[in-house]
Amino acid sequence: MDYQKILEDIYQEILPYAKEGKQADYIPALAKVDPDQFGMCLETVEGEVYEYMQAETRFSIQSITKVFALAMCLSIKGESLWKRVGKEPSGTAFNSLVQLEIEKGLPRNPFINAGAIVLADILLTELDDPEEEFLTFVRALCGNETVDYNMEVAVSERETGYLNAAIANLLKYHGAIENDIERVLMFYFKMCSVEMNCRELAKAFLAFTNYSPFEYAGYKLSRSRIKRLNAVMQTCGFYDEAGEFSYLVGLPGKSGVGGGIIAVCPLRYSVAVWSPRLNSKGNSVMGMKALELLTTYTEESIF
Ligand code: GLN
Repeated sequence: MDYQKILEDIYQEILPYAKEGKQADYIPALAKVDPDQFGMCLETVEGEVYEYMQAETRFSIQSITKVFALAMCLSIKGESLWKRVGKEPSGTAFNSLVQLEIEKGLPRNPFINAGAIVLADILLTELDDPEEEFLTFVRALCGNETVDYNMEVAVSERETGYLNAAIANLLKYHGAIENDIERVLMFYFKMCSVEMNCRELAKAFLAFTNYSPFEYAGYKLSRSRIKRLNAVMQTCGFYDEAGEFSYLVGLPGKSGVGGGIIAVCPLRYSVAVWSPRLNSKGNSVMGMKALELLTTYTEESIF
């Protein structure tokens, strides 16, 4: 398979969409990002790497971080994690309050904000130095010690994060978070602020692609847990566009409002794509198109 040529062809084909959508401006620090950027990187389980355009420019991974938090929480808590958070698709926006109110503080899944705020709470309870341990885990997965939080983005999000604060308050009201609200929110925003590039993300997600048991920085996941983590990405990774992504792309994946999308082709490759302009559901316009074409051209998807 000539993945390099496929990446180049895909870019030419999605160029007509280059000005569609806009970057996430509800986080002031992200509003400053140049929206006209694009990068893509595919890494096979054999370790071959194919890059195109700005595959080595770092960006805010935002909600992609929730997969790393879930992997750590699953490793620590095992199946008992699902008492604190569900694993059903939400069909609602990533920051919706309505469902959380109706379901009395039990978040539908770990990839909507409410669910990831609960994951942040669990890590705060379980770990001595959660900020450091989270970074150590992500650095081990991507093999790069320089990956870090961007405090300007985290603080900027905290300053305007009224909706996430409301979610955290509702969770606390229902007894769903144990730690101080402010502490939980700041750790959640810090995890979202991590910056990585497509190459680093593709490398990190290889661990979820090859289905062999893994241990990174002391966190272990069995083959079965990795498969289940992929199942949650498949059903919940794109909020109220999870069905559309399944239909068009056919791979487990996760998006973030920084414009990044990561997808996993089990036992074949992981692929990361980044372009900051988002559609109305908060998913990268060019990223969605690029992955749709990738599985069309390669005829490699889980279906
Ligand atoms: N930090 C963002 C938020 O909480 C993450 C959302 C996302 O990437 N979908 O709103």
